[in-house]
Amino acid sequence: MIPVSLQQEWMEQMEQADKKGCSESFIESLPRVPLSKIKKDDNCPICCCTYEEDDHPLVAELPHCGHRFDVECISVWLSKSTSCPLCRDDVMSHKLGIDTSQVELEEDWGMFG
Ligand SMILES: [Zn+2]
Ligand SMILES: [Zn+2]
Repeated sequence: MIPVSLQQEWMEQMEQADKKGCSESFIESLPRVPLSKIKKDDNCPICCCTYEEDDHPLVAELPHCGHRFDVECISVWLSKSTSCPLCRDDVMSHKLGIDTSQVELEEDWGMFG
C-alpha cells in the first residue's frame, strides 16, 4: 500500500511537470513564416497586433495545426505551456524529436546487448 500522502505528492509533481513548457530549443526550432506569406491584416492571436505593424515581424508557425503567432508571444506561451493557444493541441506530441528517439533506440540496444 502506498501512503495517501505520498500519492498526493506524486500527483502534485506530475501536475507541475505538465505545466512545464517546451524547451527553448524546441521553440527556436519552430518554422518561421516568410514575410511574403504574411497577409496585411494577419494578426497575432495572443497580442492581437497585426504582424505588419512591426518593421521586422518574426512569425512562427506551429507545425501540426498551422496556427501562427509572433515568435515573441509564442515563446512566452510555450515556456509555460505545451499546447497551442488556439486549438489546445499538444505541440510536444507532434514533435519530430530526433533526439529522444535516438536515445530510446540506444536504450533498446543496450537491453539486448
Ligand atoms: Zn503577438
Ligand atoms: Zn493550433
